[in-house]
Amino acid sequence: MSATPTHEPSFRESVDLMFTRAVALMDLSPGLEEKIRVCNATYTVRFGVRLRGGIQTFTGYRSVHSEHMEPVKGGIRYALGVNQDEVEALAALMTYKCALVEAPFGGSKGGLRIDPRQYEEHELELITRRFAYELAKRDLIHPSQNVPAPDMGTGEREMAWIADQYARMNTTDINARACVTGKPLNAGGIAGRVEATGRGVQYALQEFFRHPEDVAKTGLSGSLDGKRVIVQGLGNVGYHAAKFLSEEDGCRVTGIIEHDGALFNEKGLNVEAVRHWIIKHGGVANYPDATHHAKGAKVLEEVCDILIPAALEGVIHLGNAHNIKAPLVIEAANGPITAGADEILRDKGTVIIPDMYANAGGVTVSYFEWVKNLSHIRFGRMQRRQEESRHQLVVDELERISDSLGKTWSLSPDFKQKYLRGAGELELVRSGLDDTMRIAYQSMREVWHGRADVTDLRTAAYLVSIGKVAASYRAKGL
Ligand code: GLU
Repeated sequence: MSATPTHEPSFRESVDLMFTRAVALMDLSPGLEEKIRVCNATYTVRFGVRLRGGIQTFTGYRSVHSEHMEPVKGGIRYALGVNQDEVEALAALMTYKCALVEAPFGGSKGGLRIDPRQYEEHELELITRRFAYELAKRDLIHPSQNVPAPDMGTGEREMAWIADQYARMNTTDINARACVTGKPLNAGGIAGRVEATGRGVQYALQEFFRHPEDVAKTGLSGSLDGKRVIVQGLGNVGYHAAKFLSEEDGCRVTGIIEHDGALFNEKGLNVEAVRHWIIKHGGVANYPDATHHAKGAKVLEEVCDILIPAALEGVIHLGNAHNIKAPLVIEAANGPITAGADEILRDKGTVIIPDMYANAGGVTVSYFEWVKNLSHIRFGRMQRRQEESRHQLVVDELERISDSLGKTWSLSPDFKQKYLRGAGELELVRSGLDDTMRIAYQSMREVWHGRADVTDLRTAAYLVSIGKVAASYRAKGL
């Protein structure tokens, strides 16, 4: 048993504690350890926007954690709870996340203290453009220096405004579109970016279940088929993860936790129907075919096979960690488990697939989008038809042989249809994401299984990513 902290650390302290725990197992020089741990810089901006007949002042942040690789990368969050500590913790996680999945970026994060639901679209555009202006004029938005992306409270729309604002300020920059990712397809975005983080959670779980030895550590067995899933947060990440797991892998989503309560149904909930209900009614209240729980967070403690916290940080803490029954938790959100809760869960034998890996699908596809913007060409544009015509040659030849043998066998129409289709951008993005998630998992599990002093995936993830960051600092002569 390890000693569990008695007070709840802040999000940033939690990330620091987990980092410290991992570096204790590494052979880094103390100077380098400190260099990697600290946030390089955090810029705070307060700006005024003329709204509703007066001037409103907003506070925003952009934190750069590590510039061992540039540009630095990470989302911009819109939420009332945004503060410097949170943005710095999230920026640090971005450094480790990018290193783990080999996206060639340093870590950064931004935030604006605002409740976006309180503003009209045209007001949000004014605010976003002004914030983007403040960051861009200090190169805190820049294709080769700092590339934001969506996060909680922001999406394609905000990214399109940011890209346009940057382009207006840099009219001759041919790579202007690469200044931000997560843009809509018609504004330089990439197919599959919106679903990417949820898709990454699905690929992470698929990879986990490819290793019976790892699954056995949870006490579960078999495949994802039939596994009971509880998801917290049906926003972009939680919705896509729950949708793909239920529609494609046979999982049963038994619980959905939202801001106004939770739904539970042992037989499984229809994710699409719940999502529509929330969009129409603003919450899960009165949704038919489910038991309602006014205290949503209580449902985190229900019996299930896989728990997916996909909302806020710190939702599994010293107060409820003892009651968590899921043997497998996958952190789709950033930092949903505090350092103290992590200790408790590890002692109980819960397997945690850590955030820096589990939700890395978003930044991975952001990387593809950035590369697409810099290369100025859609993925698959050059090779798709060529690939199709080569496959057509094979099919024609097989059919000629079949004819010459008196048609004693033939190719099934289903095979022909699938084989003849060359990969377009979406297929290539999914293939690149799947490959990334598999390789990153394998790098963690090698450490998890290979070292007696590493007993959990989070520590393994930190060891792999800090190792990579340290190597690039050393290569720079630091
Ligand atoms: N905000 C997302 C994250 O936390 C995506 C970041 C990005 O695509 O740069 O990973």
